[in-house]
Amino acid sequence: MNPQVLTILGATGTIGVNTLDVVARHPERFIVFALTGATQTDKLFHQCMEFRPRYAVMTARAAADELRSKLSDAGSLTTVLSGPQALVDVASAPEVTTLMAAIVGAAGLPATLAAAKAGKRILLANKETLVVSGQLFMDAIAQSGAELLPIDSEHSAIYQSLPAGFDGNLDKAGVNAIWLTASGGPFRTWSAEQMNAATPEQAVAHPNWVMGRKISVDSASMMNKGLEVIEARWLFHANPEQIRVLVHPQSIIHSMVEYRDGSVMAQLGTPDMRTPIAYALGFPERLEAGVSPLSLVGANLQFEQPDFERFPCLGMAFDSLQHGGYAPAVLNAANEVAVEAFLNRQCSFGDIPRAIHHALANLPTSAPASLEDLLEEDSRARHMTREFLSLRAMA
Ligand code: NAD
Ligand code: MG
Repeated sequence: MNPQVLTILGATGTIGVNTLDVVARHPERFIVFALTGATQTDKLFHQCMEFRPRYAVMTARAAADELRSKLSDAGSLTTVLSGPQALVDVASAPEVTTLMAAIVGAAGLPATLAAAKAGKRILLANKETLVVSGQLFMDAIAQSGAELLPIDSEHSAIYQSLPAGFDGNLDKAGVNAIWLTASGGPFRTWSAEQMNAATPEQAVAHPNWVMGRKISVDSASMMNKGLEVIEARWLFHANPEQIRVLVHPQSIIHSMVEYRDGSVMAQLGTPDMRTPIAYALGFPERLEAGVSPLSLVGANLQFEQPDFERFPCLGMAFDSLQHGGYAPAVLNAANEVAVEAFLNRQCSFGDIPRAIHHALANLPTSAPASLEDLLEEDSRARHMTREFLSLRAMA
């Protein structure tokens, strides 16, 4: 078997590091072609020394210069590039067979889409790509014959609970509904007032998962589940009525598929992202991933309805999906800006849903015809959200 030739976008992030952990366990299966990172020069330096990629990409020119000189002093043969076009190039280079798309946010879209057009096997962690450009992205996959495997634990669970070789027709597969489980995040039992005054430290303290800061805040607001609902719509060709959310605080059942005959298939496991990463890296084989075996004795699994009042982001995500057009892209853009402002202590936690609501109340009436349209609206929504938040800060 030929080894897979792998580019990891966002190698320095939580998903990137977990991916390299699995790759290191199976050196005969993978050749690392390129690793990318935004700012963490030291981390990318150490990764390059260990995995010897042909290319390393840093977003900023200055960081790339620093990395280049450190690597050359250390005798490394890795070529260092910088900027967004370099991300596109290393994601879609002819040598690459497999792309791990693990940049956070819509920033990951152009390179991930380029890999989709180039017919790669795409391991998709960057859910924002599907939220912003679901239809375009899925069209690109279909046209090129690219292969798409989910990394999000819920979507990996659904993928594993669908019939092998699922062709995109849920009805033919006998599926009634897709159940996305949600931990409920660190504020599951908090009142709306308490949440309004929550600090970034409280918001990123997830009970079950260690993740990047943005997705941690999304988990606290339940926007993460909202983005996952939209992601599921595209990955599994589901209509919004078929997608349900169930709060399950222990994060052991990672999601479920309900069939018409009453059967419910689920995937369970210790909450560790190396499981869905190894599943996608090895597919259709199962790889050892270093994950502790699941222990169910005393696990005391609980389930609750999601609370749409305390977690308005979840409802806005469902509404955006129903609305279609620009709504999911605007939802995502406003959320990215508001989460960053919250992490920088420029707005309250309660301002996140307020800012998104404001952006969604000002949607264009036309429909997007191209990626350019979507990206233009993405910038407009970001600008509008920054203005909304700075006016609130002054009030
Ligand atoms: P993270 O913040 O830990 O890492 C993000 C990575 O993207 C880093 O390598 C960073 O350098 C890079 N990056 C950030 N901004 C960039 C930009 N503008 N241009 C280029 N590179 C940039 O995030 P994460 O937790 O690893 O999440 C990555 C993606 O995976 C997100 O879309 C997230 O929703 C998804 N995801 C994460 C988890 C998890 O457990 N961490 C689970 C499911 C899905
Ligand atoms: Mg998830």
